[in-house]
Amino acid sequence: MKIHEYQAKGLLKGYGIPIQDGVTIEDLAQAEAAIDAVNKEHGAEQYVIKAQIHAGGRGKGGGVKFSSSREAALENIKKILGMTLVTHQTGAEGRLVKKVMVGEALDIKQEFYAAITLDRSKGMDVFMVSSEGGMEIEEVARTSPEKIIREAIVPGFGLRGFQARNLAAALGLEGQAAKQAVGMFQKLYKLYRELDCSIVEINPLVVTEQGNLVALDAKINFDDNALFLHPEIAQMRDLDEEDPAEVEAAKYHLNYIKLDGTVGCMVNGAGLAMSTMDIIKQVGGSPANFLDVGGGANVETVKNGFRIILSDPNVKAVLINIFGGIVRCDRIANGIIEAVKELDLNVPVVVRLAGTNADVAKELLAKSDVSIISADSFEDAAQKVVHAAKG
Ligand code: ADP
Ligand code: MG
Repeated sequence: MKIHEYQAKGLLKGYGIPIQDGVTIEDLAQAEAAIDAVNKEHGAEQYVIKAQIHAGGRGKGGGVKFSSSREAALENIKKILGMTLVTHQTGAEGRLVKKVMVGEALDIKQEFYAAITLDRSKGMDVFMVSSEGGMEIEEVARTSPEKIIREAIVPGFGLRGFQARNLAAALGLEGQAAKQAVGMFQKLYKLYRELDCSIVEINPLVVTEQGNLVALDAKINFDDNALFLHPEIAQMRDLDEEDPAEVEAAKYHLNYIKLDGTVGCMVNGAGLAMSTMDIIKQVGGSPANFLDVGGGANVETVKNGFRIILSDPNVKAVLINIFGGIVRCDRIANGIIEAVKELDLNVPVVVRLAGTNADVAKELLAKSDVSIISADSFEDAAQKVVHAAKG
């Protein structure tokens, strides 16, 4: 699960990590009060207005604006609140900005990058820093990977003092700033562990002209499987920032992920979903989604799955590829027949059922008067559906 910058900063603050603070508003009517509050609390004369969306690259996209006066701040709030912000992480359709943070502008001397995530190949958390802060870290990793310094954290030991000092030294920090960095890195790792994060990223972490180390931006993602341990964090979820079809699918325990192709896929099991997407690509098509109805698929799950797939206007044809192991193919067939009858189906549907009771299922589908295209093999199904999607 992702949260907004202002929420992430709230958590950092709770762990005693210095942040560039602000007031977040959802309504233009709150703008003046927010500016006043930032002025009063931080003595700010200059402001930064920041769009709050679940995507990075806001600065480049015009979602972070420096404002040299109260009037400029008000102007920028008007511009950003309600804009459709396009960044390299939102896709071309962009994201509607429903919240903005009004913060104090800082005099920045240096911008660094700091992040913690799990390194699966090592089976350890890894703490990364770079002197190339404020930029896209993907770009740094591509062009100058040696500028990203890593410390792998041995489970059970946590981030050791010497590791935190190594990281601070790698950023060229000395004296008081190095001390601050060491304390901050240890607190960051504590937060990462205690809150079951999957990523904590501070980009940029800045040194101000006054010599203070401050988290200027903050991104935190959480491990969904551990969210039940943290109800106060689960509450921070912002459904406005998530794909509505994915939210709907989660209600029915369906694993749905929207992609950008034209072939809707209904599959049981993640492995079969992966290979279905591979084979669709192989025969020249492109999947519109990944939908796994799971092991216990029944008439209801098939119907809901269908509805969700068809809610995507990009879907030009649907492939149902089910392997009957525990789930019986005849049940799936009945689900398909009911769903097709109930829903206003305006795209071709290709069905491939294999495994338990596949014969019975085929007979059911053949006898029914719903118009579906039957396929015998995996490859046959892929070819038929890609052909159908191309019209
Ligand atoms: P994003 O990563 O989404 O682009 P950031 O919060 O990192 O958004 O802001 C982008 C850039 O804007 C920062 O690297 C920094 O240079 C500048 N910036 C952001 N907030 C402030 C601030 N409070 N004071 C001065 N500059 C800021
Ligand atoms: Mg940033």
